Amino acid sequence: MSDLSTYRENLRAWLRANAPAPTPTIDLNAAKAFQACLFDAGYAGITWPKDVGGQGLGPEYQQIFSEESSDYELPTSPFGLGMGMCGPTLNDLGTAQQRTRYLPKLLRGEEIWCQLFSEPGAGSDVASLQTRAVRTDDGWVVDGQKVWTTNAQFADYGTLLARTDPDRPKHSGLTMFVIDMRAPGVTVRPLRDMTGHAPFNEVILDSVRLPADAVIGEVNDGWKAAVVMLGHERVAIGSRGNSKTNPFDFDGVHAMARDLNLDGDPAIRAGLADLYTRERVLDLFNIRVGQETSAGTPPGARGSVGKLAGTMLARLAVEVVSEIAGPAAAGWEPDDTRADAVALGINSTPSSGIAGGTNEIQRGIIGERILGLPKEPSVDRGVPFRELKVGTQR
Ligand SMILES: Cc1cc2nc3c(=O)[nH]c(=O)nc-3n(C[C@H](O)[C@H](O)[C@H](O)COP(=O)(O)OP(=O)(O)OC[C@H]3O[C@@H](n4cnc5c(N)ncnc54)[C@H](O)[C@@H]3O)c2cc1C
Repeated sequence: MSDLSTYRENLRAWLRANAPAPTPTIDLNAAKAFQACLFDAGYAGITWPKDVGGQGLGPEYQQIFSEESSDYELPTSPFGLGMGMCGPTLNDLGTAQQRTRYLPKLLRGEEIWCQLFSEPGAGSDVASLQTRAVRTDDGWVVDGQKVWTTNAQFADYGTLLARTDPDRPKHSGLTMFVIDMRAPGVTVRPLRDMTGHAPFNEVILDSVRLPADAVIGEVNDGWKAAVVMLGHERVAIGSRGNSKTNPFDFDGVHAMARDLNLDGDPAIRAGLADLYTRERVLDLFNIRVGQETSAGTPPGARGSVGKLAGTMLARLAVEVVSEIAGPAAAGWEPDDTRADAVALGINSTPSSGIAGGTNEIQRGIIGERILGLPKEPSVDRGVPFRELKVGTQR
């Protein structure tokens, strides 16, 4: 048996013995215990370097993990931002001390991470953010407001983007920091979305003190760090979880059509065929990007292709599911858990075309950086941030 088939067999047996039964809501302590168990078994950080607790394996092993774990609802969502974005960015740009301090605990699920970029006046144009970090004798003092901060309600650390030099143009006066989410002056308030849940928060930063070694990368070079992180974010969002338990993946949608005797309906068959084809294309694209990344070619702007394709696929799945479910997608018996999951999916899917950069922003990036189309006009390039009329500039 090849290495890969042995790996698959062992993983399959491990999951059968250790994957917890799904629960309607995630219990954070149980999720942390399971993540520690994954780590101890050698299934956390499969492609991460060994010196920070990863397994140092190629993306083909990660792909096997995705395929085998797709039969289970593993409680790993609290760690998604850390694993998909904050951790990979610290790995790329962090000091040796930062990498060894934070990454093993992140992989073991001992510490949860969030990302503090967006502000009430700075989303797509995140470089116009107004949160300030002012240098002191022994570090920095941060004041400002962040919004849409996913998982901040239980995060231990965050990657914060703040303005450190308002006399420079907006992209070149930013710095990325590690922020302790329990530090004095950090207030987290939940925000409820249209699903009825509160997955994200606003975060008020009131004279929060950060040590000098909290800087990720170089002072005033935070835009470069942000681009690295957004690249990881787009790849993470674009890589579908491929969960067979997800009613919006092809297998789930197909099963639903079969159960309702609608898989013979020509319009639904056409929708299913479209969904299947696009899922396969996106999976193959992601495998290729993963392999190239391991071979030393970072995804760059191609992360935007995967992200855009992933959100378009999610919208297509919602259309096909709504067609199959009919009126049941809008009203159902309280104990009908499948209808509940369908309604949650329909209501939460539009957010995937906004989070991590909207579809319009991805199209702009693809146009400029992959297709070589003319750049969007920007009158503020080269102008000191202090002179820009941005929101209610302090
Ligand atoms: C579920 C979810 C989770 C999120 N989690 C986080 C998080 O953890 N951390 C974080 O920092 N942020 C997070 N965000 C915020 C997200 O990054 C922003 O919502 C996003 O970047 C858009 O910014 P905005 O909401 O300010 O919209 P705006 O930037 O105000 O955009 C409004 C509209 O204008 C369009 N538009 C703007 N500029 C252009 C342009 N140049 N060309 C064409 N069209 C344009 C947009 O496409 C959009 O349709 C999250 C958002 C969602 C929905």
